[in-house]
Amino acid sequence: MPYIDFHTHHVPTATDVIAVVDGRDTWGIHPWRADTICPVPDLWDKLAIGECGLDALRGPSMELQLQVFRQQIALSEANRKPLVIHCVKALDQLLSLRRELHPKMPWMFHGFRGKPQQLHSLLAADFFISFGACHNEESLCLCPLERLMIETDDDEVHPIAEIYNNVADKKGVDVTFLVNSMAKNYRFFYQKEPHLT
Ligand SMILES: [Zn+2]
Repeated sequence: MPYIDFHTHHVPTATDVIAVVDGRDTWGIHPWRADTICPVPDLWDKLAIGECGLDALRGPSMELQLQVFRQQIALSEANRKPLVIHCVKALDQLLSLRRELHPKMPWMFHGFRGKPQQLHSLLAADFFISFGACHNEESLCLCPLERLMIETDDDEVHPIAEIYNNVADKKGVDVTFLVNSMAKNYRFFYQKEPHLT
């Protein structure tokens, strides 16, 4: 079973990697670009909507970001596509949107670097949590495998296999077991069999 990279900005060169490449396999308006007008493309071949979300440190006003993010959530629900979320310093807004909208589609918090307290709020709200090479170790250890995902994002230094080894090590599981668990999460989240292309 190959390694699954749940969110990346680079088409992998390794042949044993299934990658969900932002812009190729997903479509969304990044919060940094919430002020640009992007026509919605045909979404039939997209696995997810995203990355989209909220960033209190960068991009246009939070008001505009929230407005654009709500549109992305609506697209996710209407097209039955899961949501890949970028969220920086806006966890309360994210959680309250989820409480308000009760989405049917699963949501992934990508590039999670938060502390256990934030992890628990997200797990209680049924999020999937995606970890990259840079993360809070305690949170990684606490996150149950059935809610965990692994990604490289824009990291070109740490290959996905290395991150899997590191995660397996920290969680005290075998890499093969971890790879199989991630395949299960991929099937559930992206509603597709993980196949090498
Ligand atoms: Zn990204």
